[in-house]
Amino acid sequence: MIRNAAAILVPVLALVSLSSCAKKEAAITPPTVENYSYAKPAEVAVSHMDIDLDVDFDNHVLTGSASFLLDNKAKSNVIHFDTWALNIRDVVLEDDQGNEKKARFVVGDSLELIGRPLSVVIEPNTRRVTVHYRTTAAARGVQWLTPEQTAGKQHPYMYTQSEAIHARSWVPCQDTPAIRFTYTANVHVPGGLMALMSAENPRAVAADGNYRFEMKQPVPSYLLALAVGNIQYRATGPRTGVYSEPEMVDKAKWELADLEKMMEAAEKLGGPYRWGQYDVLVLPPSFPLGGMENPRLTFATPIIVAGDRSLVSLIAHEMAHSWSGNLVTNATWNDFWLNEGFTTYVERRIDEVLYGREYADMQTMLGIRDLNEEWDEIGKDSQDCALYTEYNGRNPDEVPTMAAYEKANLFLTMMEDSLGRGNWDKFLRQYFDSHAFQTMTTKHFIRYLKDNVFAEDSTRYDALKIDEWIYKPGIPSNAPRVASKRFDQVDMQIAAFKQGVSAKGLNTKGWVTIEWQRFLDNLPRPLPAARLQDLDTAYDFSHANAAIQRSWLPSVIAAKWEPGYPALENYLMTIGRRFFVRPIYMDLAKTPEGLEWARGVYKKARPGYHPMTQTGIDLVLYPEKKAE
Ligand SMILES: [Zn+2]
Repeated sequence: MIRNAAAILVPVLALVSLSSCAKKEAAITPPTVENYSYAKPAEVAVSHMDIDLDVDFDNHVLTGSASFLLDNKAKSNVIHFDTWALNIRDVVLEDDQGNEKKARFVVGDSLELIGRPLSVVIEPNTRRVTVHYRTTAAARGVQWLTPEQTAGKQHPYMYTQSEAIHARSWVPCQDTPAIRFTYTANVHVPGGLMALMSAENPRAVAADGNYRFEMKQPVPSYLLALAVGNIQYRATGPRTGVYSEPEMVDKAKWELADLEKMMEAAEKLGGPYRWGQYDVLVLPPSFPLGGMENPRLTFATPIIVAGDRSLVSLIAHEMAHSWSGNLVTNATWNDFWLNEGFTTYVERRIDEVLYGREYADMQTMLGIRDLNEEWDEIGKDSQDCALYTEYNGRNPDEVPTMAAYEKANLFLTMMEDSLGRGNWDKFLRQYFDSHAFQTMTTKHFIRYLKDNVFAEDSTRYDALKIDEWIYKPGIPSNAPRVASKRFDQVDMQIAAFKQGVSAKGLNTKGWVTIEWQRFLDNLPRPLPAARLQDLDTAYDFSHANAAIQRSWLPSVIAAKWEPGYPALENYLMTIGRRFFVRPIYMDLAKTPEGLEWARGVYKKARPGYHPMTQTGIDLVLYPEKKAE
């Protein structure tokens, strides 16, 4: 849709010439949009970027420059960048002799979601293009937190979230996963605060607030990341560690004590870790995602700090992206399952090494539950229930993705079961090695699979229903069966509870968070008030960690159980992870009085949410208004 629409929607651009108004210049043809980007990678692509940015907490803007080295393959006379709500002040060209001059450029009309193209006229000897710019308060890839929104309550905080198409709201860039570049950055922040990027990072606060970063491996724009706050570092091993606010950093270190072991398990599957250091930044609660695999520095929700180490497989997931996604990258967002499916599969293999097969299977079973919940919502026949999904110009943040994660994990597990673990692991290793720092399409993956696994034996290929897995909605009949004795135990306690056994009378000895999730997810709803009170008195779910509350609160809502509402409100006011708050708002929106109550809370909570979370909840609570 975008590809066709773009040509119609972008009008011929008025020419802006900063260098010369006197002589008549050739018009710059407005670029079309492909894969959510104005960039034309086959013609001219950025190979390296140097950023210089001032972080201004008073005005919530980043001001500075982004300077690009070019690979002008097609001897193009114009380069197109993506921008979203950026103020472009000036563009300068540098030739191969180091001479600089002002460039002729056009900032085109804005398209919904895509933003404006920045088209810069270049010359055959142009080596570098430097864009001077500032962000605006509208930057959807940046969140600015007040001190009250942090754990320490003393200092402001900011962080970026670039995937899928938000990097362009804080750096002008060729914002497509098809282009990779190395980068350096100079970042200037108020004294006392620490700046971190998806790059080589400091361990201590710089007294003058000046930080220098370098990312030596080429990365796509969606892996650009910056965070600034009152942050400290703790090592967890020779090449792993955690960053967080002082109030949180030691708890985070305890929770993530297994990072080094996780890395060893991941390397056994994917080959040597190619990014040097691996650290985790545990962010304040408003972070909209579970984790974001920014290279060298995973950004993570504080929800993982559950106190029982039971939610750390989320970090195994982000670490696994160091191979699937960051090293071998989906060429377009339609191929997102190649990023997320392989990552979910490797995550479960890491879980298996560290915590046993049963733990990995329990994670898979919780994942399948999430998948079913999503598929019930969108309809099981939806094309979004296939692995390969046509995004068709939809907001990438709103496209259902459980197939890309959990169905793809089942698919890859089926492949492992069919080929045998030894053969499959050999294939995986070879797949990562031979496509390192490259992009991958679904078509290319299938070709590679056929060439390297099936040697053109199409009968065997067909017998595994691979095309059905990839292109058809639903779960094919050869899906692996997943079961867990520990979950069987939990299910017995659910049955006992249903038969009237009191909460205290249940055998819940030794349960960790994921077992409580299983229990609470499968309780009948609505329960009578007395039974909810009995459960809450026995286990204090109203004050449990966020993951347990996410499974508990639907019962509170279904029964309209008043004593649970203060905890419900507190949850919605303090947690910003989209996957955690959106289903709760959806449950509330099922009844008119629930919707009214939810809108009241949301009015207060919304300013504290990340724009990605806001967009998702706006659609739930105000479906009649189209998201902007
Ligand atoms: Zn992921």
